[in-house]
Amino acid sequence: MPFNSQLAFEPIAVQDAYQSWELKKLLGYLQAQSPFYKKLFAEHSVDLSKINTIGDLKLLPTTSKSDMQEHNWDFLCVPKHEIKEYTATSGTMGRPVTVALTGGDLDRLSHNEHQSFICADGNADEIYQLMLTLDRQFMAGMAYYKGIRRLGAALVRTGPGLPAMQWDTIRRLEASSIVTVPSFILKLAEWAQEHQVDLHNATVKKAICIGESLRGADFELNALGQKIHKDWPIKLYSTYASTEMQTAFTECSAGRGGHQQPDLIVLEILDEQGNVLGAGEYGEVTITTLGVEGMPLLRYRTGDICAYYEEPCSCGRHSRRLSPVLGRRQQMIKYKGTTLYPPAIFDILNNIPFVKEYVVEVFTNDLLLDELRLHLNTPLPIDECELKLRPLLQSALRVVPLLQFQPATAIHDMQFPANSRKQVKFIDNR
Ligand SMILES: [Zn+2]
Repeated sequence: MPFNSQLAFEPIAVQDAYQSWELKKLLGYLQAQSPFYKKLFAEHSVDLSKINTIGDLKLLPTTSKSDMQEHNWDFLCVPKHEIKEYTATSGTMGRPVTVALTGGDLDRLSHNEHQSFICADGNADEIYQLMLTLDRQFMAGMAYYKGIRRLGAALVRTGPGLPAMQWDTIRRLEASSIVTVPSFILKLAEWAQEHQVDLHNATVKKAICIGESLRGADFELNALGQKIHKDWPIKLYSTYASTEMQTAFTECSAGRGGHQQPDLIVLEILDEQGNVLGAGEYGEVTITTLGVEGMPLLRYRTGDICAYYEEPCSCGRHSRRLSPVLGRRQQMIKYKGTTLYPPAIFDILNNIPFVKEYVVEVFTNDLLLDELRLHLNTPLPIDECELKLRPLLQSALRVVPLLQFQPATAIHDMQFPANSRKQVKFIDNR
C-alpha cells in the first residue's frame, strides 16, 4: 500500500476522507482473507455495504486482546509462507499473542517509525543510542532500529541496562539522542551525578521514550518527567504504541500528545458501554490498522485509557493527538470511593525522594473491595520513613494504603520476575 506521510499536515476532513476510503478496502480484505473477521461479520449479520465512512465504524463489533489470545491464527490473512517475522506481545496481561508480519508489514513498520522519528525532530545527522532489546520477539526495538535506518541517522545498539557501559559508550561515540524507558533515564542521570559526569555538557540532547508516561493529563511533565528534567534538562519525546497496532503515536516538540499517523491507523475512543466519545473525553483507545497485510485489526480495544485532541498543532500537523495514558482499563482500582489507575500512584511515589524503589499491589480484601499494599524500599529507618510518608499519602490518596517495607533485593526480584521483558511496578492479585 502506498503510504502518505504528508496526510498528517492536511485538514482533518481530508484525513477522515482518506481513512474512510482505506477502511472500505480493509473491510473487503478482511471479508475475503480473515477467518476471524469473516466469522465475526456473519455472527453479527454485518452488512458491509452500509459501512462507508469511519463514522460508520460504530455499527461494527469490537475486538479485544482475549479474541487474539483465543483465536490467534484466525487473525492471519496471508498464507504462512508469506510471514517474514514473528513478533509477540510481552505477556504481562496474560497469554502472549503472536503478531506475524509479512515483508510488506515490515516495510510499513519502517515507514511508521521513520515518520515517528521525524515527528520527534529527528534527522540524518543524529546518532541514536538504542537502549532497548531487539531480541525476544520484541517489536518495538526492531521498529526503532528500522525507523532510524530509514531516517538515515546512525545507530548504537547498546541494549537495555548497565548505566556505566551506556555512559562509556556515549562518551566514546558521542550519541546525540537516546531511545529508552523514562525510568532508565533517571538511572543514567543518577549514575552520572555519582561519577562526576557533566550532564549539562553531555552530547545527548534528546530522549525518545517508550513505555511510561512522562506527562499528566494537562500535558505538563509528571513527577517522573520533572525528576529527569531537574538533573538532566534534555528534550523528552513520548511515544505510545503496542505490538498489535504496529503503529506509534509520537510527540512532536510541542509535547501536546502523540500524533496519530492518519495513513496508518484509525483512532476511536470508547466508553465502557462501547459508545464513541468525542475530543477531550477519556475512554478506551480503540484502533483500526490501515495497510497491514498479515494480521490487520478492526476496532481493536487496546485496554489503554486516553483522550484525543484535534486542534491543529504548532508543529504544523493537523493530525489528532493522543493524551498520555491514564492507565489500563483492567487495572482500574476502585479505592475508598474513588477511581484510580496505577500510574497515578507511581507518580505520587516518584515524587517522594526517600522512596527509592516500589511495587504497588492491589488485592481483594475480606469485604470483597479493592485494597492497596505498597512494597517500598527506603534508605531511612523504617519508623522515620513511615512517619514522613503517611501524611503525604493521606493528602494525595485521601487514605493510607498498607505499607510493607522491603530490602532493595526483594523489590528488585518483584520488579524483574524471570522471563519478564518489562519492569513490573504493579501486581494485580484480585
Ligand atoms: Zn505537533
